[in-house]
Amino acid sequence: MTIQRAMVLERPGTPLRMRESDLPGPGPGELVIEVKACGVCRTDLHVVDGDLPKPKLPIVPGHEIVGRVAAIGPGITGFSIGERVGVPWLGATCGACPYCRAGRENLCDAPLFTGYTRDGGFASHTLADARYCFPLGEAGDDAEIAPWLCAGLIGWRSSRMAIAGAQTQGFALGLYGFGAAAHILAQVAIWQGCRVHAFTRPGDGAAQDFARSLGARWAGASEEMPPEPLDAAIIFAPVGALVPLALKAVKKGGRVVCGGIHMSNIPSFPYALLWEERQVMSVANLTREDARDFLEIAPQAGVHCTVTRYPLTQANEALADLRDGRLQGAAVLVP
Ligand SMILES: [Zn+2]
Ligand SMILES: [Zn+2]
Repeated sequence: MTIQRAMVLERPGTPLRMRESDLPGPGPGELVIEVKACGVCRTDLHVVDGDLPKPKLPIVPGHEIVGRVAAIGPGITGFSIGERVGVPWLGATCGACPYCRAGRENLCDAPLFTGYTRDGGFASHTLADARYCFPLGEAGDDAEIAPWLCAGLIGWRSSRMAIAGAQTQGFALGLYGFGAAAHILAQVAIWQGCRVHAFTRPGDGAAQDFARSLGARWAGASEEMPPEPLDAAIIFAPVGALVPLALKAVKKGGRVVCGGIHMSNIPSFPYALLWEERQVMSVANLTREDARDFLEIAPQAGVHCTVTRYPLTQANEALADLRDGRLQGAAVLVP
């Protein structure tokens, strides 16, 4: 038995509270992981604020977990005690539904999501399904790697959808909302040869400077037109009004990919913005293949996350800073 300290959400719309309890297990197929760092993602905010339906309650949020294997349940091979592993948003899938069988487990009909429908990483220890844990090796700092587990992965999946097999060299890619996901993806996309254009809230000069410092060709307000038409755009901000703006900025046949899990309503817009085979699509969750691919590519691309560290007990402050846009890069809880 492990004593677990965790920041727990009892009811959406209320602050997380520190709770101490016995962590059972590990059961068959499960790992007990001693959490070393857990990133704070916008989706955690949506869970805490009650924007997402039917969370498990009480719930321990957090799905950007970097930790060390502390105990190994029956039936598991391939992990060793003390090994550093990552746990992402996709906590488990059924393996049997039509989506799972078609290799689209991100759309599984009966999934579990870390920090939403199963307990996550705002804790000293967590239990995870070993099939959805990824070895991380020893290179890199725990806190700086934590945002890779969701911000990095959702950015990677979004960019695969946006680029859609086109030549990355010279590809003009717009990123709307320059937070945790965009600051990671920008580094990967630039390494791949893309020409990155960053869009932020009007007047957010700090975020625009940040984007330029990472190699963006241009950075400006989301209402502005970039200096060249975009091949594709990805929207990371949870703001539906960005969809018509992004459509305006992409060229014929271009895609607008909505990379967030929750967005405000999209206002109506003239059909002319969609005309000429422009496309709007969303990206949901991730597959384990995305995780394996991204975790291999991120070190090669030299991805470096800018993080602000908070002690576990300050999870509510970290969430508030994310909600109010006071962060550059990513917030990470360190138990
Ligand atoms: Zn399934
Ligand atoms: Zn996330």
